[in-house]
Amino acid sequence: MTSKAGDIEGVFGEDRWPPTAPIGKASSVSGKVTPPDRLLEEALSGKLIPREDAPLLVEVGTSRLADLCAAAAQLRDRGKGQIVSFSPKVFIPLTRLCRDSCGYCTFRQDPASAQQLYLTPEEVLEVAEAGQHLGCTEALFTLGERPEQRYPEARRWLERRGYRTTLQYLAAVCQLVVEETSLLPHANPGTMSRREMEALQPYNPSMGLMLESASERLHSAGGPHEFAPSKRPRVRLRTIEIAGELGIPFTTGILIGIGETRLERIDSLLAIRQLHSDYGQVQEVIIQNFRAKPNTPMGRVRDATTEDLLWTVAVARLLLGPDMNIQVPPNLISRDYPAFLAAGVNDWGGISPLTIDYVNPEAPWPGMAELRDRTHAVGFELRPRLPVYPEYFVGTDSYLPATLRSKVVALADATGYVKGGIERYAGRD
Ligand code: SF4
Repeated sequence: MTSKAGDIEGVFGEDRWPPTAPIGKASSVSGKVTPPDRLLEEALSGKLIPREDAPLLVEVGTSRLADLCAAAAQLRDRGKGQIVSFSPKVFIPLTRLCRDSCGYCTFRQDPASAQQLYLTPEEVLEVAEAGQHLGCTEALFTLGERPEQRYPEARRWLERRGYRTTLQYLAAVCQLVVEETSLLPHANPGTMSRREMEALQPYNPSMGLMLESASERLHSAGGPHEFAPSKRPRVRLRTIEIAGELGIPFTTGILIGIGETRLERIDSLLAIRQLHSDYGQVQEVIIQNFRAKPNTPMGRVRDATTEDLLWTVAVARLLLGPDMNIQVPPNLISRDYPAFLAAGVNDWGGISPLTIDYVNPEAPWPGMAELRDRTHAVGFELRPRLPVYPEYFVGTDSYLPATLRSKVVALADATGYVKGGIERYAGRD
């Protein structure tokens, strides 16, 4: 079954759907197959778009967006069928202190403005247990980057409890969650060294770090990453590489609309593709759209548009292929779910029945019944997944430590999705 074409009309306008000619057959005026068309044809024939040709995708602009999305959706259907997943989670902001300062961030707080420096182990457990009660299976730990390197208050807080670093404390609370609850931690603490990842690995079936962008340009004066050394592409790509060396299923992605060009987005996606080709560790790629927040240096910058996000999603699918899990966060896309399904996504990411999105607090999660119904309405089946995708534990024991694997397997059905299915969260439709 393929995606329902009509669902995308609202975005492209009725005259843009269906595409006026099959991809690559007669799209150019002369009847010749133009280079971008050849790329789409190649992708659909199962060939990886070569790195040197990928920039040509920029030429497939907004006027050809429907063609691009149609090709991406075909590719998704081939690799993922009609299953769309999400992860029922609690969001645990272990600390909002951060040594860096990004131009768009409202998550970050400093010691003077923070209500508390770190969540205590008791507070972490309280949230995890409440999530368990609601059927959540993921404990997402998102936190600021190494605050102890900037703030003596953070250092003292950690030292009083026997830790030198935030990442040591994170490993301890991940262990606590694994031992005391049925939830599976997914640590997303910024850049990590090999030793730090090795310490987290026994308690995290997967970890994550957004690449955001491979563009060094964004670090220049006035750029969003001017005061964020941890956003240097080199260190972020190295973290993803270490995950590969250690066999850790890893989530990454790009943030679009922060001043990067479309060509730079392609560069970022190719960098992710290369690391995944080398190690096979990239379990999903998030395409996240920038949303301006008041009282930030980028508060007056325009939000990324739906069209631009759709273009990027479709390009990501074409570059990364049919088997990659590609996600957009459904709380950031103002209910345009069918359009994104028609552009090639197959995952809605973490959704919480309990905690807010602390990174985008203005954007509530959709209700699970609503997401189920709107996903079903365009021909897809919504399934809850664990923070580690089935590919990394069904039929393989190459990735998860034995103790963690048995915990993962106990939560999953034979296909690797959460036992009980969507009915567990949204009732029966
Ligand atoms: S986006 Fe992350 S690294 Fe940047 S300031 Fe916010 S918490 Fe720190």
